[in-house]
Amino acid sequence: MNLIAPDHIANYIAGILQPPINGKYIDNINPATGNVYSATPDSDIKDVEEAIGAARAAFPMWSNTPVEERFKILNRISQLIDDNIDSLALAETNDNGKPLWLSKRVDIPRASSNFRFFATGIMHFSTESHNMEDKAINYTLRQPIGVVGCISPWNLPLYLFTWKIAPALAAGNCVVAKPSEVTPMTAYLLSLICIEAGLPDGVLNIVHGTGPGCGSAIVAHPEIKAISFTGSTRAGREIAAVAAPMFKKLSLELGGKNPNIIFADCDWDKMMHTTLQSSFSNQGQICLCGSRILVEESIYEKFTHEFVARVKKFTNGDPLDDNSRQGAVVSKMHFDKVLSCIALAKEEGGTILTGGNAVTLDGRCANGLFIAPTVIEGLGPHCRTNMEEIFGPVVTIQPFKNEDEALQLANTSDYGLSATIWTQDVSRANRVATHVKSGIIWINCWLLRDLRTPFGGFKNSGVGREGGWDALRFFTEPKNVCIEL
Ligand code: NAD
Repeated sequence: MNLIAPDHIANYIAGILQPPINGKYIDNINPATGNVYSATPDSDIKDVEEAIGAARAAFPMWSNTPVEERFKILNRISQLIDDNIDSLALAETNDNGKPLWLSKRVDIPRASSNFRFFATGIMHFSTESHNMEDKAINYTLRQPIGVVGCISPWNLPLYLFTWKIAPALAAGNCVVAKPSEVTPMTAYLLSLICIEAGLPDGVLNIVHGTGPGCGSAIVAHPEIKAISFTGSTRAGREIAAVAAPMFKKLSLELGGKNPNIIFADCDWDKMMHTTLQSSFSNQGQICLCGSRILVEESIYEKFTHEFVARVKKFTNGDPLDDNSRQGAVVSKMHFDKVLSCIALAKEEGGTILTGGNAVTLDGRCANGLFIAPTVIEGLGPHCRTNMEEIFGPVVTIQPFKNEDEALQLANTSDYGLSATIWTQDVSRANRVATHVKSGIIWINCWLLRDLRTPFGGFKNSGVGREGGWDALRFFTEPKNVCIEL
């Protein structure tokens, strides 16, 4: 198949590619060039209702489709993502501003592996049985919930979209999904792939539009029985406020302000190489980036000197150029937000060690939204810069005296998504991992991921953690059946 990014993106409802009912569109801007890349449907409740109707109509058929058949279709989708990696990666780069090589190497392969993982996972899914000696046997039926809503953000567009859709479909649900209005193209191309793969009409419906206009209509609809959401803590809070009184099942994967804790006895070269990545990959727009670097006092000067020197070599460049380490940030709104956070850091007394400014490129990217990777020191743990999520190419460095102080600093945040610990002392690594209040801890590594493990955060970073089996379980309703013997 030949995946072509169109001028006008269409909704995918009941197996049909269709314009929004109200005829309205939003400009989708390529942040690396400033040019309009496509028009995105500005869908509203009418499109959402049509999508929910299609999903409800498909549910009896899809929930009764043998698991092996569901596996085959989802596996085919995975294969088609692999076959079309170049078109998908280019679409993602044009939507998002991230380097093309990153999209090809990480985002799109991971989107494919989401489908493959959950397609095969459902083939091996089992439920519990509890034996009450000679009195009774209880067994748990896990049945698909019905029509579920999946809403995703712009930073890893296809990867996070498929991370929700794949387990929901594998478990036998029908889905109404909304990608971010800022990065809609790969979700549109996924609808072409689903048609090609033979996914029955109405099983997956993709409605494009804004959070207030379209996402909130999905969340509030009484026929949507579960919501899997990834995005900001602000939107997560709004969604929870609407969904909780309706007793909807909720999975919220939200923001982060992750500590990267570096002890003096770390493997220096590995720590430095990985810390550069965990600080600035995807222009720092990964919820798992280590945006607060905490360094043991005895190596603070050495670390800062080398880290800053190496960050200075991270030049911003055209995302289509294989040599670009840093692409554009995703939108003008986000660009302004990140720059205002840097201004705030200065007001709070921070010292900019490198970066801190917008970057103007020549040629094709002359109107692009580029920000130099920025390192800030001299700020205390409670200032806004160290408490609030920036979600851009900005990190702070803070020194600590000992393990207790490192833990104190790490746990100061209201967020608790992930943390990284660098030390060769296994006992200390385990101690610190036990006491850091985050859902994911990496010891001497970053972003390594076994899809079977739980994923998600503590505190303001979310609830209803999913991961491998957890995601398949999230998208089912457990029912206990008790047979008296
Ligand atoms: P966002 O919350 O603005 O939007 C996310 C999605 O929700 C978009 O599709 C948006 O249209 C929709 N939306 C917004 N308000 C809504 C509402 N009231 N009801 C329903 N839908 C609504 O987030 P963003 O700016 O797109 O993404 C960045 C945020 O996502 C950051 O905070 C980042 O940390 C977080 N994130 C978290 C994870 C994780 O796994 N924890 C992963 C990636 C990104």
